[in-house]
Amino acid sequence: MTALPLLASFRRVVVKVGSALLVDRDKSRLRRAWLAALAEDIGELVANGAEVIVVSSGAIALGRTVLGFSNGALRLEESQACAAVGQIALARVWSEALAHEGITAGQVLLTLGDTEQRRRYLNARATLGKLLELRAVPVVNENDTVATAEIRYGDNDRLAARVATMAGADCLILLSDVDGLYDSPPGESPDAKLISLVERVTPRIEKMAGSPASEFARGGMRTKLEAARIASGAGMHMVIANGRHANPLKRIAERGPCTWFLTSSTPRAARKTFIAATLEPKGVLVIDAGAVRALEGGKSLLAAGIKRIEGEFARGDAVLIRGPNGTEVGRGLVGYDAVDARRIIGHSTEEILSILGAGARAEVIHRDDLALAAA
Ligand code: GLU
Repeated sequence: MTALPLLASFRRVVVKVGSALLVDRDKSRLRRAWLAALAEDIGELVANGAEVIVVSSGAIALGRTVLGFSNGALRLEESQACAAVGQIALARVWSEALAHEGITAGQVLLTLGDTEQRRRYLNARATLGKLLELRAVPVVNENDTVATAEIRYGDNDRLAARVATMAGADCLILLSDVDGLYDSPPGESPDAKLISLVERVTPRIEKMAGSPASEFARGGMRTKLEAARIASGAGMHMVIANGRHANPLKRIAERGPCTWFLTSSTPRAARKTFIAATLEPKGVLVIDAGAVRALEGGKSLLAAGIKRIEGEFARGDAVLIRGPNGTEVGRGLVGYDAVDARRIIGHSTEEILSILGAGARAEVIHRDDLALAAA
């Protein structure tokens, strides 16, 4: 039997926290003690050297109390107004709870477009990467105040899976109000059994999550399985656990009840497959022999090593990289559009700063965005 993963073995962990955990349904109040205990668990992961990103719901739930909406359904503009009010409070409570563990929090609000369009994707990813490098914990939510029906996630399970993909995380934790996936809906059958390990999301597993029309459909097990599919495609393991208990991450680490969804890949390999096989190259960068060696040694592609550029492309597009004799060296997501790239090729970092101004980067393709052709 396949062994269950160890929580302590992960380097970059995304923890998704649902509204029902943070906000007391009846009293619509924040569950402070619970949050403090979760922050303690996060502090423990960070102390062990892991990088942590939080994806937290709760803006709408917190805001609706303040604005005096009862428990019924909200219209879109109402939920946007609630999110506007609640997000301020949400960011503050996270900031305070993490500060208590000596951790700095940074608020990141994303829309669907920020994770789906490659140019904006690179921007959001760079911000998350910088926050982590600075040892801060990004606290992410959907930017509900500007997200309308067609352009919104609407549920933070899939948002969390996308954020985790974008950040190259190796583990996604979905804290929910159930222990995990049961072989039949636990509310309906008394002998429903918890599944502790899912190696692949098959149609049989999907059936266990209930029909799309059931009450589980949104933010429920269906969206969690969708998140599991995104996670496994992106090379990370995912776990669903009951966040209702105090110290829920510790509980996962100590092998409490939960459901693990495994991947057979790694974030790096999955990303390379995506770049190499899925994306249509929009242009070609011809590089010199020194740059070929640098790439093979695991470095990023710098402007200085590029001899020629063919085609028109935008930042975030896939491009082909060819060596001096024309052979394909690899493919990558380019950090500059073709116009700017043409202006800086052959130049050093300092020269690039004077050509493009402050903030310009010497990397035309970051090593995380490169897939080298097999040697
Ligand atoms: N973004 C929403 C909020 O913060 C929640 C979405 C979800 O719970 O899945 O209120």
